[in-house]
Amino acid sequence: MVKAVVGANWGDEGKGKITDMLSKEADIIVRFQGGANAGHTIVNDYGKFALHTLPSGVFYDHTTSIIGNGVALNIPVLFKEIKDIVDKGVPMPKILVSDRAQIVMPYHILFDEYEEERLAGKSFGSTKSGIAPFYSDKYAKIGFQVNELFDADALREKLERVVVQKNVLLEHLYHKPALDVDELFNTLMEYKEMVAPYVCDVSAYLYQAIKDGKNILLEGQLGSLKDPDHGIYPMVTSSSTLAAYGAIGAGIPPYEIKKVITVVKAYSSAVGAGAFVSEIFGEEADELRRRGGDGGEYGATTGRPRRMGWFDCVASKYGCRIQGTTDVAFTVLDVLGYLDEIPVCVGYEVDGEVITDFPTTGKLEKAKPVLKTLPGWKTDIRGIKEYKDLPENCRNYIEFIEEQIGFPITMISNGPGRNDIIYR
Ligand code: GDP
Repeated sequence: MVKAVVGANWGDEGKGKITDMLSKEADIIVRFQGGANAGHTIVNDYGKFALHTLPSGVFYDHTTSIIGNGVALNIPVLFKEIKDIVDKGVPMPKILVSDRAQIVMPYHILFDEYEEERLAGKSFGSTKSGIAPFYSDKYAKIGFQVNELFDADALREKLERVVVQKNVLLEHLYHKPALDVDELFNTLMEYKEMVAPYVCDVSAYLYQAIKDGKNILLEGQLGSLKDPDHGIYPMVTSSSTLAAYGAIGAGIPPYEIKKVITVVKAYSSAVGAGAFVSEIFGEEADELRRRGGDGGEYGATTGRPRRMGWFDCVASKYGCRIQGTTDVAFTVLDVLGYLDEIPVCVGYEVDGEVITDFPTTGKLEKAKPVLKTLPGWKTDIRGIKEYKDLPENCRNYIEFIEEQIGFPITMISNGPGRNDIIYR
């Protein structure tokens, strides 16, 4: 059976924790999109880890971790992550990398930096991991797949062709030093040595695994609102964040994805630019940021303070719908235990009209939140194992949100650890 774990919002919903937890029952965990630009934070018996490229299942010795063809593969980052976890005492994970995954080239990272610099105040707030230039090249058909590393002559010839184009931009648009083909070629030969032990025909491997009845988890990065088609374009990421894309980015039949577990956080946070209707500011935001997640809401990749907001029913209802949600995992609920009252965004006011369907970007930028205030529960709910043992106001908060978003909340996460979970 194939399940996908994806985000409903702007990312950072706690997908890493849910994947890590569900990995206990899984044989294979697959990353199918995105790159090293976002990160998962995972707390387990080995310590605290920030993963950017490796799937969250690497901490179990019974799982195989796969980098699918849809991922923007940064080979040195992958290599470093493997080394870091092994150095911290985690057994060497079983890792497979799709021979069709494309490689983040050193110049993708440079172009990302140069473009943000050029846009200055109008930038996207990129993490400068090369993701947008990478996917641009992929769809412009000048990207490099992992298998191309193994044909040196063809690789060199293609590099020469691509570098001509890149150098025009470097010289005339960015006024930066030109790329050198020999240097790039040598770097790619180093990449080849790093990745060679893991390269695999992943779609064939997964085809057989599905036939053998294996449990497979597809692990999404970021969330619905960062999807290039259905998100807050253009303040989105460059690969689809939707469960449906899991079929493409892993290379499996779409009808094999039987469960879509959408992770929804009990309040909102976002990184980067873009409309964020339920955003809060000042001391109120600082306090939620400080108390949020596990040790504060700061980016796992950049350390940037996240933008904070109240729970947004409009965005989350849409985010869950567009994912094709079968189950909602409602996370980080314990953090709200300090509040006397908890505002929730239940509608958007746009041009004097209240809407509850998530609009396109132009309207979204004009939207003002319509808030409803629910009573808080003023206790620490960590350690509670049964739904019925949660304080009444806490259950009311969950049930109110469930009704608003229209999808069943079947899991509630009340702490960062693997076992901090309440099934419903
Ligand atoms: P992801 O990118 O969706 O995996 O999310 P992040 O890893 O950026 O953010 C989740 C953060 O919240 C991490 O620091 C987790 O350890 C933490 N976390 C996850 N679930 C819970 C929870 O239920 N309660 C608390 N307090 N922290 C949680």
